Amino acid sequence: MSKKFEVTILGVNSAFPVHGRHPSCQIVNFDERLYMIDCGEATQIQVAKYKIKRNKLDHIFISHMHGDHCYGLPGLLTSFALGGRSEPLVLHGPIGIKKFIDVIIEVSGAYMPYDLMIKEYDTEVINTIQVTPNLTVSTFPMKHRIPTMGFRFQELITEKNINSVKIKEHNLSIDEIISIKNGSNLTRLDQVIDNSDLILSPAKPRSYSYCSDTVYDIELVPHISDSSLLYHETTYLNGLEKVAAERFHTTLGQAIDIAKRSNIERMIIGHYSSRYPDITVFLDEGLPLYSGLKLGTEGETYKV
Ligand SMILES: [Zn+2]
Ligand SMILES: [Zn+2]
Repeated sequence: MSKKFEVTILGVNSAFPVHGRHPSCQIVNFDERLYMIDCGEATQIQVAKYKIKRNKLDHIFISHMHGDHCYGLPGLLTSFALGGRSEPLVLHGPIGIKKFIDVIIEVSGAYMPYDLMIKEYDTEVINTIQVTPNLTVSTFPMKHRIPTMGFRFQELITEKNINSVKIKEHNLSIDEIISIKNGSNLTRLDQVIDNSDLILSPAKPRSYSYCSDTVYDIELVPHISDSSLLYHETTYLNGLEKVAAERFHTTLGQAIDIAKRSNIERMIIGHYSSRYPDITVFLDEGLPLYSGLKLGTEGETYKV
């Protein structure tokens, strides 16, 4: 069994919280540890509603300082304090995020009983953060009205799996399975069975790329190429390319073009404009063009 790697959407709307939708927030679960991406205004309400386990949250990644991506932080971080959090938390974001948080903590006299580490990044360059021995998060530059970065969550090593036919054939014990997974050969009577005859060829390491607010930009392609799953904003339906460009956002067709150029077979969309009360119009328009389209929906979880 491979490690859990999935994404739960908590907020899918652009600037305004309307039509029952909320600003951007997602939770990545990799091997039962949680990583938040963006933290729009309603985040702590959504965290409670969808029973996200706060004590498993180790890192928060903020793509840019527009309010619909970070105004949930003051409430979330100070509620952690009120709840008696003691585990450290690392907050990653663009330059300026430390000032934003420090001022709020200072003027509101918030008591922070846990260690909050704030790491700022130059959004113009690629930064790679080693999150666990098995997972890196790389930032990459995006084109938006203010400094903005995307994130690529990259699994590094995949677990070895034993061929289930061989387990039956050789009647393997749990101890033998563990030692074979660690590279040992199997000895049966006077016969030695080589490890490579028992192990399945390793699965391709998985990756999830998150393209936050951005104008249509083919320079994203090398940063996200061959991802197992992509999130790309689609603020507008097709036909509004001019409005999208003026506001540094993307249309559905443009996001599909980016996914295809990047050799990506599955894409979640979101950051829907408030002008669409019913977001299923995105599926109607997008599915005939790209069969791997997933309509980003709050509370839904998608496998990477
Ligand atoms: Zn936004
Ligand atoms: Zn924005």
